[in-house]
Amino acid sequence: MTTRQDCVVRDRHDPLAPLREQFHLPDGVIYLDGNSLGVRPKATTERMQQVLHDEWGTDLIRSWNTAGWIHLPQRVGNKIARLVGAGENELVVADSTSVNLYKVLSAAARIQRERDPQRRAILSERSNFPTDLYIAESLCKELGWTLRLLEADEVESHLGPEVAVLMLTQVNYRTGRMFDMARLTAAAHAAGVLAVWDLCHSAGAVPVDLKGADADFAIGCGYKYLNGGPGAPAFVWVHPRHADAFSQPLSGWMGHAAPFEFIPHYQPAPGIARYLCGTPPILSMAALECGVDTVLAAEAHGGMAALRAKSVELTELFAQLVEERCAGHGLSVVSPRDAAQRGSQVCLTRSEGGYAIVQALIARGVIGDFRAGDSQMPDILRFGFTPLYTRYVDVWDAVEHLREVMESGEWQRPEFNRRHAVT
Ligand SMILES: *Cc1c(COP(=O)(O)O)cnc(C)c1O
Repeated sequence: MTTRQDCVVRDRHDPLAPLREQFHLPDGVIYLDGNSLGVRPKATTERMQQVLHDEWGTDLIRSWNTAGWIHLPQRVGNKIARLVGAGENELVVADSTSVNLYKVLSAAARIQRERDPQRRAILSERSNFPTDLYIAESLCKELGWTLRLLEADEVESHLGPEVAVLMLTQVNYRTGRMFDMARLTAAAHAAGVLAVWDLCHSAGAVPVDLKGADADFAIGCGYKYLNGGPGAPAFVWVHPRHADAFSQPLSGWMGHAAPFEFIPHYQPAPGIARYLCGTPPILSMAALECGVDTVLAAEAHGGMAALRAKSVELTELFAQLVEERCAGHGLSVVSPRDAAQRGSQVCLTRSEGGYAIVQALIARGVIGDFRAGDSQMPDILRFGFTPLYTRYVDVWDAVEHLREVMESGEWQRPEFNRRHAVT
């Protein structure tokens, strides 16, 4: 049986423990929602002041050159590339995940329509994040294609001659289940299918090797494990074999070969720069860079491998403590118990009261979130573990709060059953 003292000792010997100092963690909060909105890095405050006062305030428009604003999408992109196994100048920061998904899905469709017009389907997972499905649905409508939704285990066996694109999120937002990117990409390629990977719940949380897996396209989020701040810009990566061959449909001037020549016709920039569209949001990009730097700081402490090792231990500890200490309350672990198939989150389910239990925990300062189910998917109580700032003792204390909330019946109070706009 693990005790609280065991957790205190584990924190004392944790080589990543100093990295927690990079963050502004409010008192009295155990934050288990870094998979939804990462914690604010301390450095972001000073950097934002500098951008506001010096770069925007004093230097004004000159900052596009003097402060290098114009290169921020590439500069921050190259930093993120190091976390996801992409090469130099292959990844840029731009727009939102939803918008970037539209760009890469369209580019993949353009490639496939030229190669093999018989392929007219996009394959995905039924419980993929809704925005991914909505974007794919819209593109399918535009092209007269179909979107096929399957359970995770069925995906591989449905890669056939009528499928153009496989679109998967590596770590499922509801269950934390992680696909084997290399294996599924290889299976897709063997069937003539292009693989588009969404890294929203992977970048900064699990080791990703886009080049090693030979993926075709990838996109991901800046405000989750990359700690870029609410609504931070997203990123987009395209394998160099595709980057110059086709363009994406949102042909804005920032993706032009020569934006400041103001030519009336579009000529895509070489390489990944053509995936830019409009003017980059400099304030948000500057904040995102601070967030990405907090993850890169782990390079001096064992890097992604060390982050992953701690993430596995934190998620394992949480699942084990819930099963040991909250038994008999109808809670069960939905996330895979095999760590190799699990991202950096643990999801629980309960036949009823999931929303209220999460609200009761939040009232105690333990912040997770709730994702409603339907007839085919269970309600989810979701807990994300960011190894940069989550301690073993936080896991212990969070489970203790959960045990108290269940044993006292506190979650049944009416105030915890009132739904807010954002869950
Ligand atoms: C968080 C998340 C998104 C978010 O998309 P936005 O365009 O930033 O709103 C998309 N897809 C997945 C899988 C996510 O986890």
